[in-house]
Amino acid sequence: MKKRVFSGIRATGRLHLGNYLGAVKGMLQLQNSHQYETIYCVVDVHTITTPYDKERLPQNKREIIVDYLAAGLDPDKSIIIYQSDVPEHTELAFYLSSQMSIARMQHLPTFKDKIKQHPQHSTMALLNYPILMAADILVYKAGLVPVGIDQEPHLEVARELARKMNQTYKTDFPEPVRFATKGEYVPSLKGEGKMSKSVEGSYINLTDPYETIEKKVRQIPTATAAGGKMTPGVETLFKYARLFIPDQLKSYQQAYDQGSLKFVELKDAVAQAIYADLKPFQAKRQQIANRPAYIDDVIRTGKLKAREIASATIKEVKEKMGLA
Ligand code: ADP
Repeated sequence: MKKRVFSGIRATGRLHLGNYLGAVKGMLQLQNSHQYETIYCVVDVHTITTPYDKERLPQNKREIIVDYLAAGLDPDKSIIIYQSDVPEHTELAFYLSSQMSIARMQHLPTFKDKIKQHPQHSTMALLNYPILMAADILVYKAGLVPVGIDQEPHLEVARELARKMNQTYKTDFPEPVRFATKGEYVPSLKGEGKMSKSVEGSYINLTDPYETIEKKVRQIPTATAAGGKMTPGVETLFKYARLFIPDQLKSYQQAYDQGSLKFVELKDAVAQAIYADLKPFQAKRQQIANRPAYIDDVIRTGKLKAREIASATIKEVKEKMGLA
């Protein structure tokens, strides 16, 4: 049997460069290697763990499917689904939660960060986020997970849950590991923290036109002279250069060291390279958005295939836990 791969993105807004480089590029690489059975998800149930707009959620989650297809996810090669279409995810999450202490969940850095962002929304759903993510992966017995480095603490939880379930109930869950891409951590345009949908001014959307990308890259804070120790903003700019114009990196680095670098030149070179990377995606996105029946079909087919695998896991888990 082929090893399985699972990954998902929340439906909190349009995809950005961090999602693309940290997650989607890895998803594509594994899909196209033909060595794995790949399952890619819009994790819409995860979206409700922080405040969200219920009127906009249906459109938001569909847009991510369109993004996936435009980026090259192929329904002939991958199972593409909405998380809420496969209720086995939430069912398994509850069974897994019997193996996890409250304290362990409360101490996760990702939980603490989210509470800081949304102090009024310290909910059980948020506390359960990593357990639901573990269930997303384990319900398919997936061993490989293409996600950004920010997700590592959650994968540790998934491994722990797999181990505990296997010890307690003699299940055979794999301990899932992260598949890392070279863009596993794309920094925020603000020069501090990671690029994130939930931080305004931190991101470049995959659908941004060239002018917007240029404007955003020019706003990376570099109000300093070239040469000497780099400020966080300058470091960020060089990180983008490493990702998008690796061939030119050395000459820009030399110019920086000599104090002759004009930041705007480096910024525009980076902006142009980002746009060149996104242009084919944007063209394909338009075509796919014009095919609603095709999108519906992808979602319908994905659901059927995914439920077949997920329901077999649930059946097994229920038997082993003495529930069936
Ligand atoms: P966001 O933090 O923007 O809301 P999600 O939590 O939905 O994004 O993450 C979706 C995927 O994108 C995950 O695999 C995550 O690791 C990846 N990802 C998010 N931000 C970045 C980033 N700045 N750099 C690399 N990968 C990222």
